[in-house]
Amino acid sequence: MRLFIIKSDPLLKKNILIAFSIILICTVQNVAYSQESDTLHIAKDSTDVFFEKITLDGNVAYKNEKTNEVISESEYHILCAPVMEVSFKVKEEHDHIDDYWRSDKINPYRDVKINVPFQIKFDQTTFTHPVDDDIVITSRFGRRRRGAHRGLDIDLVTGDFVRSVLPGKVRFVGYSKGHGKTVVVRHSNDVETVYAHLSAYTVRTNDSIPEGQIVGFGGNTGNSRGSHLHLEVRFKGICIHPEYVFNFDGSKTIRGENLWVSNSWKSPKMHSSYRKSKIVPLFSEEDAIASQDAEPRQHKVRKGDTLYQIALKYSLRVKEICSMNNISQNSILSIGQIIQIR
Ligand SMILES: [Zn+2]
Repeated sequence: MRLFIIKSDPLLKKNILIAFSIILICTVQNVAYSQESDTLHIAKDSTDVFFEKITLDGNVAYKNEKTNEVISESEYHILCAPVMEVSFKVKEEHDHIDDYWRSDKINPYRDVKINVPFQIKFDQTTFTHPVDDDIVITSRFGRRRRGAHRGLDIDLVTGDFVRSVLPGKVRFVGYSKGHGKTVVVRHSNDVETVYAHLSAYTVRTNDSIPEGQIVGFGGNTGNSRGSHLHLEVRFKGICIHPEYVFNFDGSKTIRGENLWVSNSWKSPKMHSSYRKSKIVPLFSEEDAIASQDAEPRQHKVRKGDTLYQIALKYSLRVKEICSMNNISQNSILSIGQIIQIR
């Protein structure tokens, strides 16, 4: 079976897109595609679906043999569009892009030690939104009730296109218990973007893809409640706060061509998944080190402080403060008491 992907054409007429989206939502969930001779063949839950070529009002059209739904010739051609061949020019200084190139693991860097702060470089200043609708963030990088949330959750409807935010090369296409159906794209600066909870894939491992390439359809697979995209930004296996790198305020800008990542921007503990963090990009190693040194380590109890308020202030859980300080949740705090918060 040969997989194909749908061409990402920025000039695609909106009405075709809407019609196509409706077809997708109606007919495409957990599907794989193949094209054999003149008939589009969609395998859905091991049931084959064929489109029959017909004539409708003198025009060529295609009928879904299963649902009898008729689509126009142009819609059919969008469905049949071949893999977009775009060469991925890897610059000489990025020859190491193939280091740790494994297609069987979401994170192949488990044995790699990265010291903070570290620098990530971009050779472009803008990116493409991973979904076509307005960005609605439902959960951020940070502390969440059940633990750390290392990505950004973006609302979508199952079947919506999910696009690569930057050009790159597809390293991983596969299922994991937590992430569900997942695509990992490695970019030329060794940053990887992870697209999780998809309902279907539209790229294959080792595909070189342009920015905005549709990598799959949104869904609700894996450990997910309700359809959404879980987007991660990683550097050599370390998850970085996606909003520290990409500006989701509508400007579609990358926050800097030379960004320094300090401890805080890789630690979900330092953020709340329910609140937007204040983002001040770091452009030099000195600033990154100074910022790390300035991160508070202790809290001195003042009049009226409660464990709950302290937890809220530092985006921690009461339970964590208790274990760090070896105290119980019912402990009475005294004024001047030092509470470790890192
Ligand atoms: Zn998530």
